[in-house]
Amino acid sequence: MIEIICKDELYTYDVYHITKAFFPEEKAAQRLDPKLDCAACVSLPGEGILRIPDEEGEIGKLRKYRVGFRLYQAYAKLTGRSLAWGLLTGVRPTKIAMQKIEEGMGKEAFVSWFCRDSLVSEKKAELAYEIAQRERKILRPLDYRNGYSLYVGIPFCPSVCSYCSFSSGAIADWEDCVDAYLDALCRELSYFGSVCGGRKLNTIYIGGGTPTTLTESQLERLLAQIDRTFSKEHLLEYTVEAGRPDSITEEKLRIIKDHGISRISINPQTMQQKTLDLIGRKHTTADIRRAYAQARDIGFDNINMDLIAGLPQETAADMEDTLSQIRRMGPDSLTVHSLAIKRASKMAQEQPRLMAQEVSDMIEIAQKVSKEMNLFPYYLYRQKNIAGNFENVGYAKVDKAGIYNILIMEEKQSILAAGAGACTKVLLKEPVTVPGSKKHRTATMMRVENVKDIPGYIARIDEMIERKEEWLWR
Ligand code: SF4
Repeated sequence: MIEIICKDELYTYDVYHITKAFFPEEKAAQRLDPKLDCAACVSLPGEGILRIPDEEGEIGKLRKYRVGFRLYQAYAKLTGRSLAWGLLTGVRPTKIAMQKIEEGMGKEAFVSWFCRDSLVSEKKAELAYEIAQRERKILRPLDYRNGYSLYVGIPFCPSVCSYCSFSSGAIADWEDCVDAYLDALCRELSYFGSVCGGRKLNTIYIGGGTPTTLTESQLERLLAQIDRTFSKEHLLEYTVEAGRPDSITEEKLRIIKDHGISRISINPQTMQQKTLDLIGRKHTTADIRRAYAQARDIGFDNINMDLIAGLPQETAADMEDTLSQIRRMGPDSLTVHSLAIKRASKMAQEQPRLMAQEVSDMIEIAQKVSKEMNLFPYYLYRQKNIAGNFENVGYAKVDKAGIYNILIMEEKQSILAAGAGACTKVLLKEPVTVPGSKKHRTATMMRVENVKDIPGYIARIDEMIERKEEWLWR
């Protein structure tokens, strides 16, 4: 067990996450001690105690940065390793790249600044810049101020995958609640419809969970409600996550198509049957091929597929094989996640060994094959506890990028989110002090969260709506 002591709360986040990035297999405990004679003190099993000196002066961003920098250098020296994303913890690399591009910084200058300042590898710095440039181009037709996007969450799945930390449940356990859930959801959608007059709806994303877990009539009801409530005049993209192939039927695909959905996602995660069995997916690789072929037959011309690098017992050779099968199917976009083991998942209890080199190889293979398939990287995000401290990257054909995926990451437009656990983000006209925040933090984007548990969402739907009234639209 690694023991971390920090002198000030300001250091705790970075010190903890840089430590976990270098030593992902070790458990780490952290505490504060304002009397500490240095900024941070880390006790590493078998390596002794590491002390990171503090500086004089006011505690602030620069001082926090210097502590992180010194800690990183100490770990790099100790382990002989570096991290692909260097010092970056909890920051979106493309957001930084986007800012710098907007300030007029060219690629060469950005790469050298990013490598030097944040200790990011050259390859990752180039990737961040390339993606930020593509994002800017894709987002150009959007009206950030007068436009908005809509997210609709369906928190049910055919079974719960062992790595999943979403608050979704197995449909068999919730069957009796689904109609009541849809009642509440439709009320929240009607409320959104009532406050959106005159604004342009640019993208809709129905996710979860697995929306196609709904029965045909439930799906029809939900999509008809959306049709009645919102104008699609300015809609650029309408996605339904069809996620699990064991929830997809020809009839459901037809309903989705008939309601004008332009993009669907069928997510294999892997094409290795042994892994699917191991992670509790309860479907076969043949189901994936069948669902994909049905969707193409019905006429979907924008199909995404999700894969995960770093699943238990998988090797780079497995990823290579998965990608060659995916390539034969030929999706329009591919999203490659690095496994993130969150505390809420079953897998967190089992703590599989995270093999950084293996995951890095898998990511490189995915990057290479995507390029060969004419899919280009267009969005990127990182999560905490991600395998090998890597990233998730979306690749797409030139005109098939998922616009909503970029919007959710870059926070440039309001996203109204309905459903249990959904988080509405409202772009404000002027910065406001975040209610309840320490040190009077201000924000230009206000987050309003719904409760995660399904019965709570149904019972408290009025309160969920009231929570938003204060911010829509200021
Ligand atoms: S299908 Fe997706 S949302 Fe559902 S349990 Fe599996 S990973 Fe989680």
